[in-house]
Order: sequence, then C-alpha cells, then structure tokens
Amino acid sequence: MQIERRALGANDVLLDVLYCGVCHSDIHHVRSEWGPDRYPCVPGHEIIGRVLAVGSAVTKFKVGDIGGVGCMVDSCRTCDNCLADREQNCLNGVTLTYNSPDKVSGGHTFGGYSDKMVVTEHFVIRIPPGMDLAATAPLLCAGITTFSPMQYWRVEPGQRVGVVGLGGLGHMAVKLAVARRAEVTVFTTSPGKIADAKRLGAREAVLWSDSEAMKRLANHFDLLITTVPRAFSMQQFVDVLKLDATLVNVGALEDLQSVSGRSLLFGRKNVTGSMIGGIAETQEVIDYCAARNIKADIELIRPDQINEAYDRVVNRDVRYRFVIDMASLKTPA
Ligand code: NAP
Ligand code: ZN
Ligand code: ZN
Repeated sequence: MQIERRALGANDVLLDVLYCGVCHSDIHHVRSEWGPDRYPCVPGHEIIGRVLAVGSAVTKFKVGDIGGVGCMVDSCRTCDNCLADREQNCLNGVTLTYNSPDKVSGGHTFGGYSDKMVVTEHFVIRIPPGMDLAATAPLLCAGITTFSPMQYWRVEPGQRVGVVGLGGLGHMAVKLAVARRAEVTVFTTSPGKIADAKRLGAREAVLWSDSEAMKRLANHFDLLITTVPRAFSMQQFVDVLKLDATLVNVGALEDLQSVSGRSLLFGRKNVTGSMIGGIAETQEVIDYCAARNIKADIELIRPDQINEAYDRVVNRDVRYRFVIDMASLKTPA
C-alpha cells in the first residue's frame, strides 16, 4: 500500500526503516480491540531506521546516523507535563506513532510497518554505534515501558520485584530488574516458560495456578509489574505485595477486576498504571542498555509473516519479541 509521508520540515528527520518490533498493542489496534481504528491502520512503534536526510535546523542527527522511534512522534511541548519530560502524558494530547490524529498533516499517523518515516527530531532517539539493531528495536516500547516504573519506584539491589506475564514487555522487565540486582519472580500461565524465566535471571517462576506458592509469597514484593494484555483477576497479586508496595499495571486497558478495598486498606497497598516513558527517559533506557549489552530476545520475521506472528503472540507463544526485518521491502538498487 502507498502512504504519503510529509515533506521534510526544518526540524524533521527522514528515516529509512530497517527494523520494527511487533508489540501486542499493534494487535489490539488492527483487531479493533480498543475501539474502532482509523483506516488504513499502519502499526509499528518499535522502529530503528537509518537517517537519509535532515531538515535545515536539525542538530541531533546527520545523514547515516541510526535513529529510533518509539510510541510517540509529537506533543505540545509547552504544557506542564511536557516541560517535565513527560510527553507521553501531554495535557493537550500526545501524538502517538500510529493511529493518532496528526496535527501536521490533518490526517492520522502511520507507524513503522513502512519503508520510510518523517519525524521531528525531538522524538527520534539516538542509537549508539555498535548496538544490535534488530534486538534494540523492542527497547523503544517494551524496554521503556518496564524501565520507567523501575525508575519511578526506585528499584534497588535486593528488592523483590514480581513480573506478571512473560511476553515482550515481561521478558524486558525481567532483564531490567535483574540488571538492578533485584530479586525477580515471574508469574506465568505457561508451564513451558518456567525454564526461560530462570535463564533470563529470575530467581523463581510461579504458575498462577500454584496456590501453595502464592500463599508462601504473601506480603513479599516491593514492586509488581503486570503485563497481561486483558483484564484479569488482580487480587491474588495484590495479596503478594508488601505493606506500602505497588502493583503497576502496564497491560490491560479495561476496568480492573476484583480488587478488594479491604486488602488495600489493611495493607496500605497501591494499584496504579504507567504508560511508556518520556523522550529523555527513552534515551536513558537506550543508553543504559547499550552500556550493559541488554537487548531483547527476538525472532526476526519477514513482513509477509505478520499474520502468523500475531497469532503466535496472542497464543502466548512468542519468545520473546517478533521484529520485522524491513529489508525485503526495499527496492533493489
Ligand atoms: P505479549 O508479548 O503478548 O505478552 C503478554 C503476556 O501476558 C503473555 O505472553 C502471557 O505470558 C501473559 N498472559 C496472561 N494472560 C493472558 C491472556 N489472556 N492472553 C494473552 N497473554 C496472557 O504482550 P506485550 O507486547 O508484552 O504487551 C502486553 C500488554 O501491554 C498489551 O496489552 C500491550 O498493549 C500493553 N502495552 C502497554 C504499554 C504501556 O505503555 N503501558 C506499552 C506497550 C504495551 P505468560 O505465558 O507468561 O502467562
Ligand atoms: Zn508497544
Ligand atoms: Zn504537552
């Protein structure tokens, strides 16, 4: 399909898309699980590209550099939240990378399942030389979404962190919490992922159905990050939080299910949510991972394998992020 990209403005960067990660959000969108989508929907918000051209006022990039684009491409940059480096929480409405009203073109935005993109330089992340580009793409959504709560709730060595759901976000949460020398426990619905969780550095992996383990872990965790893509019964996870500890839901957008007011009140426990991270924090997670050689575990696919990949993600069968190799879209020279 042909889509139009805007002409390069003074502050814009033109990217040749090399790799694009496949986030479960892409599936929620193309299957209209979050309400009707704008058509055509071009998903993709874990984008790595090579800079092909820069506008006259661009200072952050030169031709040939590698740039990354995550979940947003614009915001007002003047509201209190934008000024606090929280563009994702822009009070005037953040422009998401795809399927968002585009204030520049008047249409809607198109994401990274495409050949080229034009993005204002502030929203393009510098990718340090030497990074494994395909395995770095998922850091731009899965990485920042799990890094940001660990920064905000200041995860420290020895703290107990639980990760619910071992998929794209979950496996990055494990790697990032292990890098902080936290003691990590994975909660999974998939018996086949228990060995993987340990390989990724978790001390323990527990099946949701293991009521003995859930009982043993009562009042145990400093922070829980839940990455489950649908509403689920949260109480069993509230029960494993310590006094004053926090459960951060980064997955389900639906109404939260069955959280007992009594348990929050008696244990002064917190249930909250978090959305990606700001641009400065996204640069921070990229630099953090570059310094520590942290990358996603990926399966590289061709664009024509996308439907099969979506089915495998939905069936909890991704190990642990699909990344589209865009090379086959490029016109041979
Ligand atoms: P994913 O790769 O599909 O991983 C989700 C994992 O949740 C699954 O692998 C599975 O792990 C577990 N799970 C438990 N119950 C499930 C069910 N009923 N259906 C499917 N999986 C179930 O997804 P992801 O890309 O990590 O994204 C997770 C969610 O976060 C999605 O809803 C996505 O839209 C959202 N998201 C939010 C943000 C944000 O800013 N907050 C950013 C990116 C994505 P086990 O097999 O271990 O149980
Ligand atoms: Zn995403
Ligand atoms: Zn703003």
